[in-house]
Amino acid sequence: MLSQSNIYKLRMKHIAPSFSISYDDPLHIVNGRGQYLYDSKGVKYLDAVNNIQHVGHAHPRVVDAIEKQSKKLNVNTRYLDELIVQYAKELTEKFPEKLEVCYFTNSGSESNDLALRIARTLTGSKETIVLGDAYHGHSSALIEISPYKFYGDGGSGCPSFVHVLPRPDPYRGKYVGSDCFKGYIDELDDILRALKRENKGVASFIVEPIMGCGGQIIFPNDFLHSAFKVVKEYGGICIADEVQVGFGRVGSHYWAFETENVIPDIITVGKSMGNGHPLSAVITTRDIADRFNNGMEYFNSFGGNPVSCAIGRAVLKIIEEERLQENAQKIGSYLIHLLQDLKNNHSIIGDVRGRGLFIGVELVRDRLTKEPAYNEAKKLINIMKEKGILLSVDGPFNNVIKIKPPLVFNEENAEFLVNELSETFEFIR
Ligand code: PMP
Repeated sequence: MLSQSNIYKLRMKHIAPSFSISYDDPLHIVNGRGQYLYDSKGVKYLDAVNNIQHVGHAHPRVVDAIEKQSKKLNVNTRYLDELIVQYAKELTEKFPEKLEVCYFTNSGSESNDLALRIARTLTGSKETIVLGDAYHGHSSALIEISPYKFYGDGGSGCPSFVHVLPRPDPYRGKYVGSDCFKGYIDELDDILRALKRENKGVASFIVEPIMGCGGQIIFPNDFLHSAFKVVKEYGGICIADEVQVGFGRVGSHYWAFETENVIPDIITVGKSMGNGHPLSAVITTRDIADRFNNGMEYFNSFGGNPVSCAIGRAVLKIIEEERLQENAQKIGSYLIHLLQDLKNNHSIIGDVRGRGLFIGVELVRDRLTKEPAYNEAKKLINIMKEKGILLSVDGPFNNVIKIKPPLVFNEENAEFLVNELSETFEFIR
């Protein structure tokens, strides 16, 4: 077995340097089970951040589904197969009635790429509206529409066909107050009117119903509903990116867009869908899928293969039978309540926000100026790791602690997390 330092050396030699490693002192994780990870020395960590392993690490029913189907058959989608049609039926039944058709892909990026292509094909326009600090994936087409990347290190700025609406952040956004959604909608209207004047039309508005990399942002009341309405009035296609927030994570609903009282034209899903297996999808209406079917075949070597579909079905079943959406609601509400209490004792906490088990804790040096406490946030997650809890930091100022654990997180885990956070805040000033 390779030592930790030899693994590190080989990684530095053979893995491209653009891949990042978490923590100043990297972890060598060798096992996972439920909401826990174990390193090579047998140290146990509470996983409060890996939202991909949605139903828990190494869930036996997922493992069983992979094993059984791998032993039987794995081919592409050009043959009739029972698993793919059953899975497509079960998956689309989770959406509002008209969203009944799906395409299977292998990553959130592939799904968003396809969603953009559908919107651009149908509208004959390339103009795309996005939110400030949004991230939608790593392909070239998605870097072009992700301000998180194109305005970040190594980025080359905003392309002319991309239009960025300021991040609708109730805590530190451009507009604040109870009616602040109107400021954003006016700006959206300006963008759409300008495009119409220039005869460019609009292809799509793509949005995460709760922003992840943008800093765990829950929109102001009425923002998303009004935004979809105005985009549709101008003929644009509304795409909801549920890659991070879907499959019951938000607790009150199965999909995050449902909490905003909207029905998107296209929805993209991924990450948690295969519990770590590369499985993702684009879901849309029959009408849109038929209009996109213009003669060019959609072929995907791996997307929708029987092994992937067996895994996807197992994940859907586990969410339902283990009542994980209800758990996200119950434990998430309890955790948010505990974190809000913590805010009363620690002025470094500027804001606590979230839905279900998708939570952000924004750290500031001063509650009045809201100066971002990014060094402190980095220090915090490193200390928390030493205490046996895994978290991450994100947002445009790198000062938002992200909490998005496997949905099997329990009450005791929530209390342990909050107690350790409380102790750690004393050390990071
Ligand atoms: N959309 C969102 C909102 C994401 O957070 C991500 C990944 N972090 C993606 C798309 C891209 O997914 P993938 O890494 O599977 O390509």
